[in-house]
Amino acid sequence: MSTTQSGAPGSAVVIGSGVIGTACAYYLMRSGWKVALIDRGAPAGGSSHGNCGFICPSHVLPLAEPGMVGQALRSLLRRDSPFAIKPRFDPALWSWLLHFARRCNERDMIEAGRGIQPLLLSSRELYRGLIETEALDCEFEERGMLFAYRSKKDMESYAAIDRLMTETFDCPARRLDAEQLVGLEPALKSGLAGGWYYHDDAHLRPDKLMRAWHRVLERGGATIQPHCPVMGFSHRDGRATSARTAEGELTADVFIVATGAWTPMLNRQLGCRIPIQPGKGYSLTMPRPSVCPRIPLIFPETRVAVTPFQSGYRLGSTMEFAGYDESIRPQRLQLLKDGAAPYLREPYCDPIEEQWYGWRPMTYDSLPIIDRSPRYDNVYIAAGHNMLGLSMAPGTGKLVAELVNGTAPHIDPKPYRYGRF
Ligand SMILES: Cc1cc2nc3c(=O)[nH]c(=O)nc-3n(C[C@H](O)[C@H](O)[C@H](O)COP(=O)(O)OP(=O)(O)OC[C@H]3O[C@@H](n4cnc5c(N)ncnc54)[C@H](O)[C@@H]3O)c2cc1C
Repeated sequence: MSTTQSGAPGSAVVIGSGVIGTACAYYLMRSGWKVALIDRGAPAGGSSHGNCGFICPSHVLPLAEPGMVGQALRSLLRRDSPFAIKPRFDPALWSWLLHFARRCNERDMIEAGRGIQPLLLSSRELYRGLIETEALDCEFEERGMLFAYRSKKDMESYAAIDRLMTETFDCPARRLDAEQLVGLEPALKSGLAGGWYYHDDAHLRPDKLMRAWHRVLERGGATIQPHCPVMGFSHRDGRATSARTAEGELTADVFIVATGAWTPMLNRQLGCRIPIQPGKGYSLTMPRPSVCPRIPLIFPETRVAVTPFQSGYRLGSTMEFAGYDESIRPQRLQLLKDGAAPYLREPYCDPIEEQWYGWRPMTYDSLPIIDRSPRYDNVYIAAGHNMLGLSMAPGTGKLVAELVNGTAPHIDPKPYRYGRF
C-alpha cells in the first residue's frame, strides 16, 4: 500500500544525510518520489564520514558471540584495550549491556547472522551496479579482506568460526600459512602466524562516496539541506504532516528517520524506545606509506583495521561506550598506531591528515531497525546499523523504498522490525 492518499509517489523528507539516509533518499527518488534530505549538521558529517570503508559480506556474525562477556570484562581491566565503557549512571546503557550479555550464545548469534547476511549480500550486489550506473567516483575496489594473526593459537581458533561460516552461511575463508600470507600481501612483516582471506569483500573511500552520491541526488532533483535539526513532527489522524525543524515546518507525505546513533533522542516523538547506544570509534587518515598494503586488513588480536585507498591510507578501531562524548583522546588514537605496528612493514606515515571519531549506532542484537514507526503510519525508521552501515546501505535504502511503495520487498523485512525489542 502506498503511503500517499492518491497511491502515486509524493514527497518525502529523509532525516539524516549519512550513508543510510542517502541510500533511502536515492531509492525513493529513483522510484519517483520528490525527496528532501536534511541534516542537523554538515552533510554526512556523522559516522559515515571517516569509517574504514569496508563493504564486507564476510562480517555476518554479530558482536554478541559466545565468550564475548568474559572477553569484554577482561579488556575493561586493560588500559590499552580497544574496548572501553565509561562507568556512569545510565539506565539505558546498563539495560543495553544486559540484553547484549544475554545474547552472547550460539543460538542468538546464528539467528542474528541470518538477519545480517541478506542485507550484506544484497548491498554488496547493489553497490556493484550502483557505482557503475551512477559513475560514483569513490575509489571502489574489489580486492577482498585479509585477517592477519601473530599468534598461531589465535589463528587456529578462527578455524571454528570459519567452519560455522562455511556450513551455516556458505561464506568460507581461504586459510593462509605464514608464507602464503606474505605472498598475498607483501606489506605485512614476515614471521606472522598466518591469516584468513575473504575473497568477496570490497572497499571504497566513504567521504568520496558520500559526496558523489549526494551529487547524484541533486542532479536527480532532490534537495539537500544541512544545519537543519529535526525536533519532532506535527500530526493529524495518526499521520505526520510535517517535520518540525529549526528552520520551520517541512511538509511531506512520508518521513524517513535515518539519524544513526542520535535516533534515541527522537524516542518520545516517535513513540518508541529505540535501544541504540553510540559505540565510539576512531580513525587516522594519512598519505599512503611507501610500502602500502594492496588488500584491506584486519588484525583481530589488536582489533585494528587498515584501509589502503587509492588517495590515502586509514587506520581505524576502538569501541567505546562513553555516551555522546565528543572528545578525541590522544591515547586512543595511539592505540591505532600501536595495533598496526607489529604487523606491517610501514604501519603509518606522516602527516596525519585527519583525526576522526564516529558514533556507531549500536543495537544489542547487531541488527538495524527498518520499519514503520509505532506512532505514525507514514514515518519510517532506518537506523541502528552498528559496525556495518556502509556495508548495508543500498540494501536498506532499497528495502525502505519497497516498504514505502508497498511493493514486494527484495529481502524479508522481519528481522529488522521494531517489535522485536
Ligand atoms: C571507526 C569506524 C569504522 C567503521 N568502519 C566501517 C566499515 O568499514 N564498514 C561499514 O560498513 N561500517 C563501518 N562503520 C560503521 C558505519 O560508519 C555506520 O554504521 C554508518 O555510518 C551509520 O550510518 P548512518 O547513516 O545510520 O549514521 P550517520 O552517518 O551517523 O548519519 C546520521 C546523520 O543523522 C544526522 N542527525 C541526527 N539527528 C538528527 C536530527 N534530529 N535532525 C537532522 N539530522 C540528524 C546526523 O547529523 C548524521 O549526519 C565504522 C564506524 C566507525 C566509527
